[in-house]
Amino acid sequence: MTEGEQYMRRAIQLAERGRHRVMPNPLVGCVLVRDGEIVAEGWHDHLGGLHAEQMAIADAESKGISTRGSTAYVTLEPCNHFGRTPPCTESLLWAGVEKIVIGAMDPNPTVRGGGCASLDKNGVEISHGLLAEECERQMAEFIHWCKWRRPLVTLKASTDMEGRVDGPQDQPSSRFSSEEAMSRAHQMRADSMAILVGVGTIIRDDPSLTVRGPIISPREPPVRVVLDPKNRTPPRSVVMLDGQAPTLLVQSSKFDDSSDGDHVRRVVIPGPKMEVLTILEMLGDMGIQALLVEGGVETWRIFLDSDLVDRVRTCTSSVTLESGGKKFDTDMTGYGMIKVSEEEVDGDTVCWWE
Ligand SMILES: [Zn+2]
Repeated sequence: MTEGEQYMRRAIQLAERGRHRVMPNPLVGCVLVRDGEIVAEGWHDHLGGLHAEQMAIADAESKGISTRGSTAYVTLEPCNHFGRTPPCTESLLWAGVEKIVIGAMDPNPTVRGGGCASLDKNGVEISHGLLAEECERQMAEFIHWCKWRRPLVTLKASTDMEGRVDGPQDQPSSRFSSEEAMSRAHQMRADSMAILVGVGTIIRDDPSLTVRGPIISPREPPVRVVLDPKNRTPPRSVVMLDGQAPTLLVQSSKFDDSSDGDHVRRVVIPGPKMEVLTILEMLGDMGIQALLVEGGVETWRIFLDSDLVDRVRTCTSSVTLESGGKKFDTDMTGYGMIKVSEEEVDGDTVCWWE
């Protein structure tokens, strides 16, 4: 690993500290280097907080270290527009940073190349593309949304040993994943801006679909999206009543919404069949960058058949459910995906497919 790569890797590591809390902004980290030594560190910590570059400059200031003549390693091209904070390009110029090494270029069309161009004009030496792949992977949802204007789609499916997702329909559904697998499932929710289920899951399980565990504030909790073309969501279901997160019903025509709570919204996608692409474009227009598809079997199939799922996480439990329930084949090779990892988690087998 070169020295530059070490600095950039540290910036990537710092960026992780903002996980779950910066969306719709990307995870960004920054280090300032002088005389071969990291003198200050920063990261985008939470939505509305300082950008990574600004935090690194503030870190140097608080230590009484001059930033003049330093080199900044930053995982994303510095912003050049006034958002929630003033542009980082100005902060870097003001701090007297001499050289900037960038991981990923900003894919956002409104600022494309703007950051680099403005710094270059002011005599700052710029290079980019260092560990770009790793930087881009860390901010995959952001880059995907900027490129396609629709969310990156992650599908999560759990089955028992025999591929069953549920016991017999005439019995109450049971939870069968391990504690650790459940805790990771909440991490996945915390990495999302929306969580989608079919109405059958609401009727069968009445889930709350909220994030429990990871801290995501101050950003909004993920929107709970229910595919409910024919208005079958029970008015007394948790997602309709609890107001813990926004709920969005996707329906095929207009239905009575007079008794909906303030957290409930309905959108109409007309036609006999809801196209996944249309749903994703609608969510993308709402600014949703990361979608988690949670269930059930029909919804998984509709999404997988659309070829618009970016990654799949399957969890096979060591438990065997009583027969009679629905089944799902967790081998994703038929959908043109490859298994990128496999891990034992408390007796469950967790695989990632891309
Ligand atoms: Zn910035």
